[in-house]
Amino acid sequence: MSISVWLDENHVAHGSDRDDIDVDVLIIGAGISGASIAWWLRESGMRVALVDKGDVAAGASGRNAGFVTCGSVEHYTRQVSRLGPDLAHTLWQHSQENLALIRDQIVGEGGVDCDFRQAGTYSLAGSEHELRELHESAALMAARGIAVSTVDEAHIADNLGARGFFGGALFHDDGECHPVKLVRGITRLSGATVYPHHEVRRLESVTDGVRVHTQRAVFRASFVVLATNGYSSEVHPWFADKIYPTRGQILVTEPVAPMMAAPCYCNHVLDYFRQLPDGRVLIGGFRQLAKDAEVGVADTPNPEIHVALEAFLRRHFERLEKTRVAYRWAGIMGFSQDGLPMIGSLPGQPQIYFIGGFTGHGIGQAFRVAQVLSEVMLEGKSAGPYSARRFVA
Ligand SMILES: Cc1cc2nc3c(=O)[nH]c(=O)nc-3n(C[C@H](O)[C@H](O)[C@H](O)COP(=O)(O)OP(=O)(O)OC[C@H]3O[C@@H](n4cnc5c(N)ncnc54)[C@H](O)[C@@H]3O)c2cc1C
Repeated sequence: MSISVWLDENHVAHGSDRDDIDVDVLIIGAGISGASIAWWLRESGMRVALVDKGDVAAGASGRNAGFVTCGSVEHYTRQVSRLGPDLAHTLWQHSQENLALIRDQIVGEGGVDCDFRQAGTYSLAGSEHELRELHESAALMAARGIAVSTVDEAHIADNLGARGFFGGALFHDDGECHPVKLVRGITRLSGATVYPHHEVRRLESVTDGVRVHTQRAVFRASFVVLATNGYSSEVHPWFADKIYPTRGQILVTEPVAPMMAAPCYCNHVLDYFRQLPDGRVLIGGFRQLAKDAEVGVADTPNPEIHVALEAFLRRHFERLEKTRVAYRWAGIMGFSQDGLPMIGSLPGQPQIYFIGGFTGHGIGQAFRVAQVLSEVMLEGKSAGPYSARRFVA
């Protein structure tokens, strides 16, 4: 996402544009992470501002599928064997808290209308082998008190209008939303001043904080938070081997009659679909077809993947065989080495904090992880499992 001079000169400013702007905390990146940090700092008494090279939710936060799911990038069995049962459970609990906080604080108390709905999500098996794994996951999760049930092909046909899956699991507590309305809502509730169309070009540590240079202003901040996720290595080289920009692709059809009870992941959480409130069907995924090409920060639709997305639509949904595709887009995710988000401060620059590495699941995690970062910043608490120290030798 580069900025032409024409777009830059016609920018719409929400805050006032001056050459030098003093704040206590400057958050770079107005996606779900940046907005959430601003929200958690709203009662700190500090002057908080958000800058973005685009507008609010210009990055992945405005280009995702809107699943508010618990857990992370893989089936629970894999999380348990990779991370151990206790950490896997803690991470699941954090994502449950993420959803509950959004539902109660932002949608409920904050009154943000973001089409939030908590009707669960499915994970569907693309093979007998995956179905066995899903059943094992469901058993492990049920033993931990997580609300999950298994479903068969008939249930999938009746509730999702889909064919060609071997069965699956329904996670009853999960939800979905309109991600741009959500991020705009959190931003508004945070009370932070927003400076859209300010591209950060340089960070300069000075004795009493950080000077942040954009194309039209210099911000002087006591603290900076980098909430640039997939774009982080463009802002600071330290992230080059820690957060990898990874492209994801989505298509959306014209509206059809209601047919899907809840959003679905399938094929080991790689592909996904849901029906939007206006009846449109969204299909995403298939990055596995072009893993080497789907890297970098250019959000261009990949024709090979879009052919696969459309073939998926026709193969699995008899009723959508002739439905027209109305939208195609791409977005940039920030993948971490182990799939977990990371927070902390830059080595030797304790006044520059960061949050990122959501590995394709930031809507399901970032609000809660931002709470942990706010506690690190305000109370000196530990970053726990999200500490980026795990990547530093
Ligand atoms: C196709 C796709 C589908 C997805 N589906 C889901 C889903 O259903 N559920 C889910 O939980 N997650 C999903 N994700 C992942 C989710 O969107 C991200 O994890 C989340 O949005 C990350 O939020 P963020 O605020 O950390 O990053 P971003 O939303 O990417 O925000 C970073 C911001 O930094 C700004 N920025 C970058 N460089 C600069 C600079 N130099 N100066 C100023 N500003 C800068 C960008 O403009 C951007 O607005 C999906 C992602 C994609 C791409």
